[in-house]
Amino acid sequence: MPTVTPVHHAYIALGSNLGLSADALEGAVAEIAALPETQVQQISPWYRSAAIGGPSNQPDYLNAVCAIDTALEPRPLLQALHQIEHHFGRERQVRWAPRTLDLDIIWFDNLTSPDPGLTLPHPRAHERAFVVRPLADIAPDLVLQGQPLSHWLKQTSDQAITRW
Ligand code: ADP
Ligand code: MG
Repeated sequence: MPTVTPVHHAYIALGSNLGLSADALEGAVAEIAALPETQVQQISPWYRSAAIGGPSNQPDYLNAVCAIDTALEPRPLLQALHQIEHHFGRERQVRWAPRTLDLDIIWFDNLTSPDPGLTLPHPRAHERAFVVRPLADIAPDLVLQGQPLSHWLKQTSDQAITRW
C-alpha cells in the first residue's frame, strides 16, 4: 500500500531587527525549506516596519511571510522554528526586545487553539500591519478572526510600514 503523506498548509511570519536582518530572513527561509517533508510555496515581498512594544528606540524591523506545505504537526513545527531562531543567535530575554529572528505561526490549516504555548491563529497577527500586509500579498483571500485581510489592512493602516 502506498503511504500518503499528510499535507498541512501554514503561514509563517518572519521578523528581524538586530544584526544582518536580510541575511537572517533569507537564512530562515532556507532552513524552513530544509525541514523534513516541508516545502516553501510562496514568499512575500519584504517590508520595513517600526518596532511595536518593548524598549523604545529599537531599530526598524524587516518582515516577511511565507506559505508552506508540511507534514509536520503544529507543535513539532513550532519547535523547529524555535531551533531556527536559535541558529540565528536569538536569545530569549526581555519580551519584544530587539531580536535577530522571530518566527511565528500565523495560521495552520484553519485550526484554532487557545493554548498559550501555541495559539492558533496567532492572537495578535491581525492587529499587526507587518503581518497583514505581506500576508495579503500572498494569501489575499485568507480570513483572520472572522474578517478578510482587506478589513485588517484598513484597521492597521496607521502603522508605519514600507516595501523594503
Ligand atoms: P512574540 O512573537 O509575541 O513577539 P515570542 O517570539 O517571544 O513573542 O513568543 C513567545 C511565545 O509565544 C513562544 O514561546 C511561543 O510558545 C508562544 N506562541 C504562542 N502562539 C504562537 C504562535 N502561533 N507562533 C509562535 N509562537 C507562539
Ligand atoms: Mg515569536
